[in-house]
Amino acid sequence: MNSILTYEDACDIIKEHFKFINLKITEVNIPDSVGKLLAEDIISDIDMPSFDNSQMDGYAVMYNENIREWNITGEISAGNFKDIEVSGNQAVSIMTGARLPSGADTVIPVENVIAETGMIKLIEGIILKKGSDVRFKGEDIKKDAVAIPSGTLINTSNIPLIASCGYNKIKVFESLKIGFFATGDELVDINTIPVNDQIRASNLYSLTTLIKELKMTPVNMGIVKDDKSQIKDTVNKAIESEFDILITTGGVSVGKYDYLKDVIEGCGFETVFWKVKVKPGKPLLFSIYRKSDRNILYFGLPGNPVSAFTSFLLFIKPFISELYKYEPQKRFKAILEQELTKKDKRKTFVRGIALINNSTLNTPLCSVRKAEGGTQSSGDMSSLSNANCLIIFEENVSKLNSGEIVECIMI
Ligand code: AMP
Ligand code: MG
Repeated sequence: MNSILTYEDACDIIKEHFKFINLKITEVNIPDSVGKLLAEDIISDIDMPSFDNSQMDGYAVMYNENIREWNITGEISAGNFKDIEVSGNQAVSIMTGARLPSGADTVIPVENVIAETGMIKLIEGIILKKGSDVRFKGEDIKKDAVAIPSGTLINTSNIPLIASCGYNKIKVFESLKIGFFATGDELVDINTIPVNDQIRASNLYSLTTLIKELKMTPVNMGIVKDDKSQIKDTVNKAIESEFDILITTGGVSVGKYDYLKDVIEGCGFETVFWKVKVKPGKPLLFSIYRKSDRNILYFGLPGNPVSAFTSFLLFIKPFISELYKYEPQKRFKAILEQELTKKDKRKTFVRGIALINNSTLNTPLCSVRKAEGGTQSSGDMSSLSNANCLIIFEENVSKLNSGEIVECIMI
């Protein structure tokens, strides 16, 4: 019993093993890159801006603190450069984005002058500063400089810069290929009406959606009987399928027909740990298959739908999110509305409903209670369906009082 890992230790070990995942690189068109992890430095092939230009509609002049009136000697608009050299009290009418003519180092916005025929006067009280309203060559990004470093999670706000750096396609990390299958003689497809002791294999659907939510690629290998050779064949197929992660549900406990651990080991996976001091989800089996070019992480989740769901949420999701630089799983503190008790010493994750009426979850604290429906048994899905969080009930704590502040994990 003592050898069973705590939740925290299990998480640390899993986190270390995520380093063995070899992320593949692919090229995508810029519009398809949002939400992906950049796999190369974006380097600008030009200075940005590539010429000194006006930031305003106004007049380009050579700065001189003693001059307040200028004669207009010409006009330059964006994309229509003419080098009308300025000095002394000469000014060139200039539009936003137009390249500055020789001699000019300062732009006076239209709003700051009184224009008369052929000349302008600075409005009383306006003080001109050298270099004002000019965007200087290379001030944004210098040629050959790193505009966006590799490893950035691409957001729409990165796109103007990427698109200006001279790229057609950019390299990003591929999503993880996650294969999974459900084991159990009692399982039938959800399109079947279960008879006798059959049940619908709902785990295949929860895993598909949990994986999709993380923008990873799910590969559903279906239902496999509690039969060593069928499980072995499916695991071998998974090994050939270039999955980064393999997940199974069911068959990892201590029942007579719980074959997963033996079969997985027989197929060349090394067991990293089996069982964690948590509820639900105690029988979690974590293993690794090491290939020369690509490793596979294996998670054997218990079959109960709530256990499988929370195990993914607690032991898989946070590490995929970390790898892809997604926002960390939201945790928040809430005031417990009722007394909760437990006999089990394990760290327990209670399906909860937090009354979140504030956009910032922590201030003021929201209240939380057990989600209604069915029971909190690992097989009862109604309370999971009603829940929006998991209330953390720490190891070795047997009672949480009403009014106590508890930590919750957002679902
Ligand atoms: P096991 O982990 O194989 O001992 O299964 C525990 C419980 O989960 C049993 O009641 C199973 O019938 C149920 N179960 C196993 N696999 C699934 C599944 N894919 N979907 C829903 N329930 C399942
Ligand atoms: Mg089973």
